[in-house]
Amino acid sequence: MKILLIGVGLIGGSFSLALKKRNFQFAGLSRSEKTLDTAKERGIISKKFLNLEEAIAWTDWIILSIPVDAIKKMLPNILDQISDKQMVIDFGSTKAAICQVVKNHPRRNQFIAAHPIAGTEYSGPSAAFPDLYKGKRLIICEDELSKPEELATFLSIAIDVGFEITKMGAEEHDRHLAYISHLSHVTSYALSNTVLEKERNGEVILELSGSGFASTVRLAKSSPEMWCPIFIENKEMILESIDSYMEQMERLKNLIEAENETGLKTFLAEAREIRKILK
Ligand code: NAP
Repeated sequence: MKILLIGVGLIGGSFSLALKKRNFQFAGLSRSEKTLDTAKERGIISKKFLNLEEAIAWTDWIILSIPVDAIKKMLPNILDQISDKQMVIDFGSTKAAICQVVKNHPRRNQFIAAHPIAGTEYSGPSAAFPDLYKGKRLIICEDELSKPEELATFLSIAIDVGFEITKMGAEEHDRHLAYISHLSHVTSYALSNTVLEKERNGEVILELSGSGFASTVRLAKSSPEMWCPIFIENKEMILESIDSYMEQMERLKNLIEAENETGLKTFLAEAREIRKILK
């Protein structure tokens, strides 16, 4: 089978590397030829395209792993151009807006909306690695709208790569992910800016930071090109999650200000319950 990766970075690249031993041919299409050259050197793709029409004519399946705003823009156009036998899958981190733009497309059943719950703070083809998806979850949204046979084939490949599968609605997905993933990025970026603004000397940060600061601020190293569109695409849910977070911050601030030991201990003990879920 021939698979065209539109976007050959961490997410698309790791999918190809995970399937190295299977009989797939991967080609890549990207904005920059340099990115495609790196992907070729890393063995992610064996063929590169700079022209979408030529790439579509070559492939069986198309996987979109570019920023979510770019997916939303390209997807209807790609569905317009494909034949009856081709399938398109997206790996974007938001789902509602993407599903919405193709809701009434005549080829909606040739699209699978997927989100790999796996990643790192690094990006580009150099960051891709074959084990990224081992033991991780793949969320499929609106599965009932995709061609059942093609979906089953895709899921069997995904399971082979190491994924466990969860199915849910696109809006339900975006609500959960706002709290469980996007808010962590919001707070990490804000924490990083808070510290960088007050502690201008990088050497002091390096000298005094322990593993707690490093792990809490890790996500702020993530690519702005990828995260800015996620924040905007999932704006409503993220704003709701920021409001909930700020309520908790306000509660904590008041407890510290009042030196309310009992209240503080209760607050911290409540938060610590997360240990039982994330062991
Ligand atoms: P990445 O490593 O930065 O790779 C992105 C790729 O998209 C690059 O090949 C880049 O190529 C291309 N690209 C960037 N902007 C583009 C644009 N406006 N139009 C067309 N191509 C563009 O990103 P990634 O981490 O693989 O993320 C890809 C997708 O997976 C995103 O939708 C993201 O939301 C989703 N996702 C990410 C993670 C994560 O933790 N990283 C996890 C799950 C899902 P050029 O260099 O040629 O521009």
